[in-house]
Amino acid sequence: MRFAPSPTGDLHVGNIRTALFNWAYARHGGGTFVFRLEDTDRSRSTDEACAAAADTLRWLGLDWDEGPEVGGEYAPYRQSERAAIYAGVAAQLQETAAAYPCFCTPEEVEARRIVAGRATPGYDNHCRSLLPEQVAAYGAAGRRAALRMRMPAGETRFRDLIRGEVVFDNVTIPDFVVVRADGHPLYTLAVAVDDVLMQITHVLRGEDLLSSTPRQMAVYAALGVHPGDYPQFGHLPFVMGHDNQKLSKRNGEVSIAWYRREGFLPEAIVNYLALLGWSMPDEREMFTLAEMAATFDVDRVNRNPARFDVKKLEAINGDKIRALPPADFAYRLVEFLQGAGLVATPPTAAEAELVRAAAPLVQERCSRLTQAASMLGFLFLDDAHFYLDPQARAKVLSAEDAPAVLRAAGAALVTVEDWQAAGIEAALRSALVVELGLKPRFAFGPLRVAVTGSAVSPPLFESLALLGREATLARLRAAL
Ligand code: GLU
Ligand code: ZN
Repeated sequence: MRFAPSPTGDLHVGNIRTALFNWAYARHGGGTFVFRLEDTDRSRSTDEACAAAADTLRWLGLDWDEGPEVGGEYAPYRQSERAAIYAGVAAQLQETAAAYPCFCTPEEVEARRIVAGRATPGYDNHCRSLLPEQVAAYGAAGRRAALRMRMPAGETRFRDLIRGEVVFDNVTIPDFVVVRADGHPLYTLAVAVDDVLMQITHVLRGEDLLSSTPRQMAVYAALGVHPGDYPQFGHLPFVMGHDNQKLSKRNGEVSIAWYRREGFLPEAIVNYLALLGWSMPDEREMFTLAEMAATFDVDRVNRNPARFDVKKLEAINGDKIRALPPADFAYRLVEFLQGAGLVATPPTAAEAELVRAAAPLVQERCSRLTQAASMLGFLFLDDAHFYLDPQARAKVLSAEDAPAVLRAAGAALVTVEDWQAAGIEAALRSALVVELGLKPRFAFGPLRVAVTGSAVSPPLFESLALLGREATLARLRAAL
């Protein structure tokens, strides 16, 4: 199996679903998972995107057996480093006449199409049977040739692992360029050559590449590969956006890097993406990568398009967050607190202890790590940085009786002997609910806003306990 992205930007939902299914298939069957960077399009590929792709796979737990960084028997695994291999194959294809030089410019191809009155754009096989003297004449005129595969007559037939029998009439596939006139090899050549040389036996990839398959098969045939040795292809149905169109930037697709920044767990992302076109034999919706690998079978891949639903992803993320061991949750939270400038890198001992103590207050209450970090922000802000959410302030603190409530709360808190949640709660209830006769919502609302800065916070008494008496009283005074 292999995952072979083109490193032209951040990896997206569709890419990673493909990577995940290949990974799980390889892991399930004891196969080899190869990671290859298809950067033949030099103008759109970047080193940053290559590094980011590796980083994203690693973060998600999709480890590769061969590929960048780990090497392997068929290295290098970056196509831009394999130019000599493609040049050798191109020469071989030309020698056996499986491919031929084409001198046409795109403008000439288009001009001929208009003259011939053909509706569909594309090549008309003009140079398929140039005579040697014509080739020589073009050369003498200083024109450089691209190399085109000679698409054989007949049909291309294969059994797709997901779609079943697929047949292409080769007439519908014009002779295609494998090496540009500037000597640059193109994707269709590189992908076919590498899948053969790297001994790839199975390929799962997006349906958008289905039309590339007969072209690749023409290259295998020209290289003398026995049809029984072609990789087996499975084309995954599209992932659709909320508008039922293919998921794209336009209808809401964002990169995996974005989800990472927004506080999604890798466990949740792979779990949710697995559900886009696949299901557990027992239809369970929550599982780990290891559980997926243990049961993955291409027979359970759905042939219908899947719908990407970010709400569902977020719900799974919340479940995965709640399922984390508390220490692990606290550990992951640190990165987000650091990102928000709330905790030093590395955290001080006091900060680390505070995160550990505060994490349980939010673990049940968030669906993203970013939310958890922002709910805990008030514990880490000093007086100079602490601020009141303007909306909460306007709504809660400007209530007529808010100052009286805050004053009474302050007086009660001064008397608390053991500064723990239970003692704090008892003192506040007695002063505000019993003595002032306030409903709890009106009693604790102003206090919550004054001390945490927000109308939404972790449990109040535990929050005050962690914040400490001094800071609590200082914030009450400031609010007053
Ligand atoms: N590099 C191709 C792409 O990212 C995928 C090639 C393949 O999976 O065969 O679109
Ligand atoms: Zn031509």
